[in-house]
Amino acid sequence: MRLIIMGPPGAGKGTQAKFIAEHFGIPAISTGDIFRANVTAGTPLGVEAKRYMDAGEYVPDEVTNLMVRDRIDEPDAEPGFLLDGYPRTLAQVEELDGMIAFTGHALDAVVVLTVDQDEIVQRLVQRAELEGRADDTEEVIRRRQELYTEQTEPLVEVYRQRGLLLELDGTGEVEEVTQRIFEALDVVPQS
Ligand code: ADP
Repeated sequence: MRLIIMGPPGAGKGTQAKFIAEHFGIPAISTGDIFRANVTAGTPLGVEAKRYMDAGEYVPDEVTNLMVRDRIDEPDAEPGFLLDGYPRTLAQVEELDGMIAFTGHALDAVVVLTVDQDEIVQRLVQRAELEGRADDTEEVIRRRQELYTEQTEPLVEVYRQRGLLLELDGTGEVEEVTQRIFEALDVVPQS
């Protein structure tokens, strides 16, 4: 199973990604989590990424693409994977197409969680208090939302045209959203 989960910042992708990955026995690969782990460990990748992340900007495609390519090459991703936070740009879509084609497989579905922008800012400000993420200040949240609309939202149409899109309501209780996703995914034929 090769899946992508998309949605604006704070749509709950990370939370749902873990449930989906567990359900299908595949790793959830979150580019945001990998960047944050590198920042914490103080690796050169982390030092580079932090500059962008703290400002709410996207890390350059070359850096992100290489990191995802390495991660997808790991043995645990051989049966499939769920990508959370990637691709975020049209250039990343192309890269990912190449990576997947190389393995002889295909993408099975792209889940998009839709949520109200105002509710999102509230959620993210709360998360900042709980987790202390440096990129969860109101100004940075707005910048991330702006970038999502400009650079990432166009990807929804790309995947819609490919017939891969599952557009689902991301509001409500966590379990309700999970249920919606499972119902939609359980009827997707696996390649
Ligand atoms: P969000 O809650 O906004 O979805 P993530 O945890 O997915 O945040 O990502 C946090 C930050 O990591 C992003 O704002 C960006 O700086 C960087 N990042 C994550 N994935 C990518 C990507 N695919 N391309 C570029 N930058 C990325």
